Amino acid sequence: MKRTLFFLSCVLLLGLPTLSEAQLKVNRKSAPQQKTAEEKEQEELLQKYQQAMHPDTLIKQLDLQLSEFKKQGLATPELIQEFEKAREEIRKQFGGTRQPPRQEEVAESEPEPLEIAAAPTPAQPEFEVAFDTQSNPASEVPLSVRFYTEAAMNAAKFVKWMEKQHKVTLRVTDSLQTGDGPRYVHFQQEVDGYVVEGTRFTFTVQPKTGAFATGMAFTPFTKKNQLKLSEAQAFQKVQAVVSGGSALRLTKKTTTAFAEPIALASCQAEGLAWVQKDPGISRPEFWLCHRFYLMKSDEKIYINAETGEVFRRENTLLECLPTIQPEQHLPASGPGVPARVNTLFYGVQPIATLQKDTAFLLADPQTPRIAVFYTDTLQGVRQPFWDKSNSWANAALRETGSLDVHWAYRQVANYYYTRHNWMGTDNLASDIHIFYDPEYVGASFNPNDFTFKYGVISPTIIDNLAADKNWLGGGRSGWMKGSLGRSKPFASLDVCAHEFTHAVVESMGGMNRAGESGALNEAIADVMAAAAEAAIDPMGSNPWLIAEKLFIGTGIRNLATPKSSTIQAQPDTFEGKFWIENSGTCDSGNDRCGIHVNSGVIARWFYLICNGGMGTNDFNEKYSLKDGEQVSIDEAAKLVFQTIPLLHPASDFEHFSDMTLEVANNLFGKCSKKARAIEYAWYAVGVREDPPARCGDWTFDLVISMEGQSSTINFFVKDERMVMTTQSEDGPTKVYTSRHSALMTAVVRNEEGGYESHTLPKNILKYNLEKMDEMMPEMEKQAEEEFAQMRRSIAAEEDPAARAMKQKALNQSMAEYERMRAETLPEMRKNMEEGSKEVNISESEFFGANSRKSRRKAKREFDKQFVKGFGEVEGYKSKHYVMNEGMDWWSTHEIPLKFSDLSLLAPGFFGSGSGLPLDHYMRGFPLRFGQMLKITKIRNSAAANFEQLYSSSPVFR
Ligand SMILES: [Zn+2]
Repeated sequence: MKRTLFFLSCVLLLGLPTLSEAQLKVNRKSAPQQKTAEEKEQEELLQKYQQAMHPDTLIKQLDLQLSEFKKQGLATPELIQEFEKAREEIRKQFGGTRQPPRQEEVAESEPEPLEIAAAPTPAQPEFEVAFDTQSNPASEVPLSVRFYTEAAMNAAKFVKWMEKQHKVTLRVTDSLQTGDGPRYVHFQQEVDGYVVEGTRFTFTVQPKTGAFATGMAFTPFTKKNQLKLSEAQAFQKVQAVVSGGSALRLTKKTTTAFAEPIALASCQAEGLAWVQKDPGISRPEFWLCHRFYLMKSDEKIYINAETGEVFRRENTLLECLPTIQPEQHLPASGPGVPARVNTLFYGVQPIATLQKDTAFLLADPQTPRIAVFYTDTLQGVRQPFWDKSNSWANAALRETGSLDVHWAYRQVANYYYTRHNWMGTDNLASDIHIFYDPEYVGASFNPNDFTFKYGVISPTIIDNLAADKNWLGGGRSGWMKGSLGRSKPFASLDVCAHEFTHAVVESMGGMNRAGESGALNEAIADVMAAAAEAAIDPMGSNPWLIAEKLFIGTGIRNLATPKSSTIQAQPDTFEGKFWIENSGTCDSGNDRCGIHVNSGVIARWFYLICNGGMGTNDFNEKYSLKDGEQVSIDEAAKLVFQTIPLLHPASDFEHFSDMTLEVANNLFGKCSKKARAIEYAWYAVGVREDPPARCGDWTFDLVISMEGQSSTINFFVKDERMVMTTQSEDGPTKVYTSRHSALMTAVVRNEEGGYESHTLPKNILKYNLEKMDEMMPEMEKQAEEEFAQMRRSIAAEEDPAARAMKQKALNQSMAEYERMRAETLPEMRKNMEEGSKEVNISESEFFGANSRKSRRKAKREFDKQFVKGFGEVEGYKSKHYVMNEGMDWWSTHEIPLKFSDLSLLAPGFFGSGSGLPLDHYMRGFPLRFGQMLKITKIRNSAAANFEQLYSSSPVFR
């Protein structure tokens, strides 16, 4: 049996071509009119691949190769006999080891008994990557990984797998559960015992789709600097560069006590970490830095641990208005009374306060505790708002919005608890502190100490904004009608819910504050605010406007029609009109690359899944989400909420869209109308290039025509499972496997006319390589024995002529054996190693793009250059790709399968993984490939007897 596998490897390797990604890439870049040498080579390779997939060809090649072996090597009769045996064995069984059918397969199979020979099950690969949905443009470590169900992956195994596969060390940071959703385990990367800033991985086992991990980590990097400075020495450097540095007090990061004055002069030491100079998607470099957080200026300062230089200095607030210069106005505090309070925006509402000595504090002692503070600039501390009679009737206090904020945060906390089973901002019911700052314009969340800040916007600022032609809303008369005449605090329910959501996101690991990740962060805050407002606003405000209590009638952002957002127009299409490029420096000058602008795309998606709608996006794609296909705003919020733990600091819109589908399939069911609507809406806003493929199961024939002969392979696809059957002169054969499985099972006829099944790894070459190493000593021993026997025979030979002949034969055998060992086997080994490598080339790499934007562009350009027609093939909308006068194919996006799904017969040939070059190349599922390959008799349903087909029972159609 070992020999069989060994020879099978030889056949596959020596007889079949290898398609390398390089060859494919070269071809893509060449001009369409010229047929280059590479293109010709490409064509030949593709042809050879088609041939290789053919079962008859495979058998033929086996025979050829075996006779070749017979001719050249291993001259002893015994070995020749072995070869013959092996050839027979391969012919009848396709290779593999024997395994009894599984219990459920026995139960479902026909009563006909199967002949089972005792032999070991192939060693189960301990960890195998089933497929990689997206490789990471900034790192060698993939962005997401799905694991074989057989591997029974858990969080601990995942850590080992990352270590083994990617040399990445992960440390658990937290584990959380979102309501009734699955459990998520979060990890952070460490290098040399120090955390790497901005890294995070999430591991989860979704009930329907299995073990899955996604995140951001880096291939271990070389050190840029040494640790020479102590924390105290680094702190001195901070003091030297910060104005008023001598007043700073070094503290350790702790959570602040409830209603205690907070020292604004504190400087929290956050420890050593590897920090990127320019966080972005280009391949980064890391320096070891001491990290400090300055409470007073909401700044993070990174000190190079070797040189003491300021490495980076940044404001960390999640500002929710693009930066506007603050100005002086309104005093902050005042006395007041009642328990039911007259809020600024929401009429009379009940709140809870805290009695302390002879006064009442604007501090709600229920879980989670909520308190609103004002900034006491004289004392340099923040104090709770207080009222002696608990009537809270002071108008000036009311104008600060503190009553609204106090009420609103409680409502939002209740919303998260009742709708999402999430307690407080961090699910730990930690205290919620909100600071009112009259000198601050906007509202923000501070991820360093988990506090909130809000200020006011004055008529002057509004007037200035309205007049500023740089703002899109500027120059228009009356766009903030009704807001004039009075300063307004950022205390509306939607603004509070927006900030609260930032804290929720942060507590699940957080995201970047710039670029697409930052825009996602803002968008999630906006859509959750819309959902919270729809659920709790007693005034029935329009949930699709943000901050319409401050900017009456329009708000600052319009989630329904982002292009009409008043403070600045937002795109409603990915990379469409009003989109702000993510390249270059992201700072407050450009809204950190448009985080409050590009968020419009996600907002529009959210609006569409809740409300349906039709239109044409900026790429001129018409879309229509019919009434009845959408989800409720509550369901949409649940979907977004459960997606948050799967995000990481480098997540972009496409990753977010993938993750929402991951969650939607679990929440609403794969192929459900709701899951489809969610996917379709991603197409409507241009994050996905194609409308969703048709759902359901598939049955079709693959007809391969070569040299005037044609043969047919029948495919049966149900969910993630696939069966392929063929008829040959030796009888019917089938192979079946699950997409997430590392193993496949072949059912073949045996000598006695019965059937037997063989389970073997999909990556057969890798498996055989290991087997080859195992059997080498045995082969050598056999050869030595053989030679020893020949020597004995020579010694015993009395006839000199016969002895000379025998000696010659021995010499020849030994020479051939030596040649095999020195040349043939190493060559074979090299080929096997090459062939067993997992090919996981990302679309970006394939299309020669190094950022998402240019990848999208590259794909559009690819289509523009090579799509020569549109039409229906077998009833499916298809595109006709013509590479040059010789090579063409028709691909459809309506069938959610890939070219590599057809390659079961040559498993492991391309390695495993989804990022196979041909899959990218085909731009869909190929229904025609020249004259050679044809998909026909397509049915969008599973065979009635699929379960029998997908079993070791001898059912073949
Ligand atoms: Zn925000």
